[in-house]
Amino acid sequence: QHFVDAKLHSFVQDNVAKSGYTNPTPVQKHSIPTLLENRDLMSCAQTGSGKTAAFLLPIISHILTDGPGAIKGSTQVNGRRVYNPAVLVLSPTRELAIQIHKESAKFSYRTNLITAILYGGRENYREQLNRLRNGCHILIATPGRLIDVLEQGLIGLGGVRYLVLDEADRMLDMGFEPQIRKIVNNGMPPKTNRVTAMFSATFPKEIQILAQDFLKQNYVFLA
Ligand code: AMP
Repeated sequence: QHFVDAKLHSFVQDNVAKSGYTNPTPVQKHSIPTLLENRDLMSCAQTGSGKTAAFLLPIISHILTDGPGAIKGSTQVNGRRVYNPAVLVLSPTRELAIQIHKESAKFSYRTNLITAILYGGRENYREQLNRLRNGCHILIATPGRLIDVLEQGLIGLGGVRYLVLDEADRMLDMGFEPQIRKIVNNGMPPKTNRVTAMFSATFPKEIQILAQDFLKQNYVFLA
């Protein structure tokens, strides 16, 4: 099996080829077709399994294929510009967010898609906000900092069509559950009107509950 078989958008195919990936990893073999079909997904995947490309490739492909009309970009609210990402990826740590951001930029190379990043800490905050003003189709964020920016009204979640929770168990271990729930219930389309993918190395009770709350009933479970 080859990436070409997955019917990814040709720009994405080119970017995969440039990355030197020849064969999909097991996680990618299952996740890519599932997300290309716009089905919800709960995937038990470890770090190093290739999970980042497993969700980025089909999602970027969809955003490109579905056309710019589907991307709201930015809107004016009370004279202020609000950015409406079509894709939101939540990450437990700044390090993981940076890694996902790099991969996203790599896989959307030569497309008009812009990936923005938001993570905590004082350094880079202003720079992150300035970069947001370039627009943002794909947003990679840690939960705390995203809430901060949502409260400033710079980001709107009404245009989110793909929501990814990466390393969900780690986010819960770090105590982010209230923040995650706040984000998901903050103007984001309901689960019936978006595609949601959760990645987690473990599948304890708390993750099962989160999956029940965030994923549609017929979600695909890949262990
Ligand atoms: P991840 O689990 O997403 O953090 O990926 C782990 C590493 O594997 C990253 O450095 C990726 O660039 C790389 N990788 C992901 N998918 C593939 C693939 N299909 N072939 C070769 N390397 C890959």
